[in-house]
Parts: sequence; C-alpha cells; structure tokens
Amino acid sequence: MDDCIFCKIAAGEIPSTVVYENDRAIAIEDLNPQAPVHVLVMPKTHHANILDGVEADELAALVEAIGEVAKAKGLEERGFRVIANTGADAGQTVDHLHVHVLGGRELGEGLLA
Ligand code: 5GP
Ligand code: ZN
Repeated sequence: MDDCIFCKIAAGEIPSTVVYENDRAIAIEDLNPQAPVHVLVMPKTHHANILDGVEADELAALVEAIGEVAKAKGLEERGFRVIANTGADAGQTVDHLHVHVLGGRELGEGLLA
C-alpha cells in the first residue's frame, strides 16, 4: 500500500521508535500515548484490519511481539490491555491492522485507556 503510513513505518521510510521486531511484525511507540506504556504492534505487510486475510503465522508473529513488548516494558506481572480497533464504530483511524498494548498504570474501565 503506497499511501499507508504504517507500511512506511514498517519499511523504515518514516521514522518511529521501534520497541521490538521479528520477521513479520513490528512494535513501535504510539505517537500520542494514552498510558505510561502505549505501544502499537502490527504486521509488516498490509492488512486493513483483523478481518483482512491475516495468515496464521503472521498472527503468531504478532502475538509473539506482544509478549516481547510486555517483557521489555515490565508489564508481565501487573498486566496490560490489548486492543484492536476495527472499523468506524471502533474509531479505527489508521487502516493498517495494529493492536494497542497499554499498561504501566491501572487502566480502569475506559474503552481505550
Ligand atoms: P487507531 O485509532 O487506528 O486504533 O489508532 C491509531 C494510532 O496510531 C493512534 O493511537 C495514533 O496516536 C497512532 N499514530 C498515528 N500516526 C502515527 C505515526 O505516524 N507514528 C506513530 N508512532 N503512531 C501514530
Ligand atoms: Zn499498511
């Protein structure tokens, strides 16, 4: 996807702070953090959202990356939240599948953080 900002970030064409990456997924600091830890984990190849033909090994790489982020950020003991906004009602603003990993404080019952 030529005009996708997260494709460009995954390709290193737009700068970001990379927390972790493996061969199929990359984790970056969110530009506008909603919690002390707010990391976006996404597949390196373009999928609009979770419904858009994600391959099993791609999903496995995504889940592995979430675990590595939790470890790197010290979230394993106290926990964290994983959110994948999908479509308009969820307020998805970037149409490249990504999950928010939020933590570092008690998150309460808010929908995002
Ligand atoms: P969504 O609402 O689509 O689930 O979340 C998109 C997220 O991407 C938002 O939390 C927003 O702060 C983040 N974001 C948007 N553009 C950029 C960017 O260029 N770099 C980074 N690191 N995060 C971005
Ligand atoms: Zn993309």
